[in-house]
Amino acid sequence: MKIRYFIQVLAVAALAACQPSGSPSGDPEESAVTEEKVGTSPYTNCSFDSAASGENFDTVILNGRVMDPECGFDGMRNVGIKDGRIALITEGEISGADSIDATGHVVAPGFIDPHQHTWNDYGQHLLIQDGVTTGLDLEYGALNVPKFYESMAGESFFNYGVSVAHEAARIAVMDNYVHDKGTDARYVHAARTLPDTTRWRDDIPSDEELAEILALLEQGLQDGAIGASSTVGYFEAGATTNEVFKVQKLNKQWNRVFSSHTRGQPEMPPPREYSMGSRETIANQAAIQGAGWHSHIQRSGWDEIYELLQGLQKQGMVAVADIYPYVSGLPNAAAVPLEFFDMIGQEVEESLMDPVTGEYLNLEQLKDLHENNPQKIVVVFMGEAAEEGWAKMEDISYAADSVPVMDEEFNTLPLDHPKDEYVGHPRIIGTRSKMFRLAREHDVPLMNTVNNASYVPAKYLSMLGLPGMQERGRMQEGMVADITIFNPDTIRDNSTFALGERALQPTGIPHVIIGGQFVVRDGVVDLDSRPGQPIRYPVAQD
Ligand SMILES: [Zn+2]
Repeated sequence: MKIRYFIQVLAVAALAACQPSGSPSGDPEESAVTEEKVGTSPYTNCSFDSAASGENFDTVILNGRVMDPECGFDGMRNVGIKDGRIALITEGEISGADSIDATGHVVAPGFIDPHQHTWNDYGQHLLIQDGVTTGLDLEYGALNVPKFYESMAGESFFNYGVSVAHEAARIAVMDNYVHDKGTDARYVHAARTLPDTTRWRDDIPSDEELAEILALLEQGLQDGAIGASSTVGYFEAGATTNEVFKVQKLNKQWNRVFSSHTRGQPEMPPPREYSMGSRETIANQAAIQGAGWHSHIQRSGWDEIYELLQGLQKQGMVAVADIYPYVSGLPNAAAVPLEFFDMIGQEVEESLMDPVTGEYLNLEQLKDLHENNPQKIVVVFMGEAAEEGWAKMEDISYAADSVPVMDEEFNTLPLDHPKDEYVGHPRIIGTRSKMFRLAREHDVPLMNTVNNASYVPAKYLSMLGLPGMQERGRMQEGMVADITIFNPDTIRDNSTFALGERALQPTGIPHVIIGGQFVVRDGVVDLDSRPGQPIRYPVAQD
């Protein structure tokens, strides 16, 4: 299959004539594909007019509006899928063993989420209903990279990948703690809140410790991690600028992305505002011409951080951010200092919620959680929603930042756990559908939203040579058949913070295909499908 694919792609690449994706167009009339263009993938193929063959495809998607942001293509086409790949895009009549009619729907590259932490069945089956076909954790990551990939093989609805975790490396070196089950986000809340693991958060490592931390990160890069990532916002008092700079330089050495939850806090007054923290990593990446990914920039200061990153993008750099369209976070109680709400000028009783009961908490209750249940997940509402601004951002990615969905004892929930008893954040199933709704409400061209939902992560990670992203995020012949089919007129989120509504399925995303397999069909999840493939660099030889 592999060999056949490469031959096919090389053959069509020679004929391909492409145009730059350029400014997005909302015109559903077909885009002209005329100019020469070099894509971000060696397999870029902007040919959308193949002759219909008599071939019997595995699956055909008929009469849909195919959109490909990389080539700027937007036109009515039939799509043939064979052996897990997009084999043909044509105006001609085609047939297959299986067939769906996509009249009135967009046939888009599957949505790619670069920042989510959901490695459990239950959470994943919610994310795929929002159109997600690839989920990466480029924020927290994992320390033992091979162990992470082994734990996911054959077990994942969507394609999966991680960075190597700066925070977990600090916990391992400075507190001598590694969770016996694993080192990815499923186990982080436990590590963060153990009473005797505090050095990672509060202390500056010795020179020897820092050397060990960097060696662990380099081991992760060698093992194929997508980058070395830092949640320095959770240990800002313990990390010098020099430590962060060194982690960024390590990424540069490996030509990988440094992704980060930067210092500071949204809504915080100077000098601890979030944009100040972003500046640290932006200055470093500008100086070393390194790649940077900035987590959840949607709250206060978002427009400024966005402008800074756009400035770097214009210079050809990989400088990207992700957003989720909500003004609420989901930390554990221990991560919310008692003085926090005073500092951001908000009332505790209006800003802090127990997600399980839906009730708002007061300062005494927060204090009680700090003492008796620091791992408890709470909802923190901060600042104002900037819905129009979010919807109009270009070349940004959408990420749910969804946490592992587990019960209070850290066990994964069974797939038959009732959806109306899900007490997590509605963003897990509403991030992308909400962005499409906001874009529609604010007259943003559809191609811009498809670009952000599908292509942006693939584009920037392709520029860094990540193989799995060079053949995804694109509706092009030869690419992996990860496809999200949605109705542009009706797509919307339905999940809210009201109890019982947290996991309501979005409207208008009837079909989601991963590697040629339906994981959602006619709005129903195939609970037995696990087509997810690893997204990682090849393991480097010594
Ligand atoms: Zn974060």
